Amino acid sequence: MTLHSDPSVAPDARSFVDVATDSPFPIQNLPFGAARLSNDRERVVSRIGSWIIDLAALDAAGHFADTPAAGKALFDLPSLNRFSAAGRPTWRAVRSRLAALLAADAPTLRDDETLRAAVLHDSTNVTMLMPMEIGDYTDFYSSREHATNVGTMFRDPENALLPNWLHLPVGYHGRASSVVLDGTPVRRPRGQTIPADADAPVFGPSRLLDFELEMGFFTGPGNALGEPIPVDQADAHILGLVLVNDWSARDIQKWEYVPLGPFNAKNFATTISPWVITLDALAPFREAGPVQDPKPLPYLQESDAWSLDIQLEVALRTETMRGEGHVIARSNARHLYWNIRQQLAHHTITGCNTRPGDLMASGTISGPTPDSRGSMLELAWRGTQPLSLPGGEERRFLADGDEVILRGWCEGDGYRIGFGEARGIVLPALEG
Ligand code: MN
Repeated sequence: MTLHSDPSVAPDARSFVDVATDSPFPIQNLPFGAARLSNDRERVVSRIGSWIIDLAALDAAGHFADTPAAGKALFDLPSLNRFSAAGRPTWRAVRSRLAALLAADAPTLRDDETLRAAVLHDSTNVTMLMPMEIGDYTDFYSSREHATNVGTMFRDPENALLPNWLHLPVGYHGRASSVVLDGTPVRRPRGQTIPADADAPVFGPSRLLDFELEMGFFTGPGNALGEPIPVDQADAHILGLVLVNDWSARDIQKWEYVPLGPFNAKNFATTISPWVITLDALAPFREAGPVQDPKPLPYLQESDAWSLDIQLEVALRTETMRGEGHVIARSNARHLYWNIRQQLAHHTITGCNTRPGDLMASGTISGPTPDSRGSMLELAWRGTQPLSLPGGEERRFLADGDEVILRGWCEGDGYRIGFGEARGIVLPALEG
């Protein structure tokens, strides 16, 4: 077997493993994650169809011996940090080897029942884990439509974008400790809010709880303190992307955010999806981004196309609904004005160092149409246009018992690169 130099798996490639045509995880995807297997081992894994692939078992059987992963002990671990630190040549070699081993005409794994039993695990018997031990989390604000909508509602429609917005990817340093995995319930936070026309704040449960539809990327090899990552090299420092729900308490945010930005309004929970979809899997879905006018400063300029065509949706499942919920927003990652390479270049231009497994989120991804708005704040326009749901319910913000489900996928020619889901159900606030 030789290693492929082309990082993407051919659109017509097929596996000997049965994969449903609408599966998010065909042989073209091969994402990375961490999981507790039915034998209680915590491992670095990949996925095809409904099967979890134990990379440590493949490594132990010598299948990465001729790759840059050899001898590095990257897989018998409960998170992707060490694998992420190993860098792009390793990520590519491992993914290429997986594609080769899983190909329909490849007998090595297909015809070896013992190896197959060690390597392939039914996903229904596997518990996904946080893919990374996240050191630092940063949240950007890179959707022009979202920034314009929020600026229009909270400040001035005539000057909705602040003067810096078109010159730099605005962001803030978030809270890594409260990033949680898909399926983790989220308790409604309590905090300070200021009633309309009141002189003093009150304490209690947030009444304006919201979600934010975002995507995030995980950093690979870091940069040394003092050494920025150039924009044209930034993709070599990015393992891949996940879905992100940046839960937000709008009433707490409104009172606290001047002058230093969000604090309690966003530090109680951020939900991510479990599978890291690699930039190599996403390569066929790269496209030219929006025209940036005014032209960014040289350190943010790039020659290449780095927008990503990733379809996104938000479903809301209230306590009275059954099934998979009701889709309340459809958006696309291509609506982002600042792309992931520009975000990382800007983040590090001061010399700020990043480490393997840092999470950087995009900011709410809103599109140009009312149904593509990525938060309840925008969908219900600050509560003035309540959302009507099937069954007669209405929502201005999230209610206790509501489940928010983010989904994302790239539509290929005869296959789909899926992100899976990021779910979270709202629990009532603590009493008192
Ligand atoms: Mn956000």
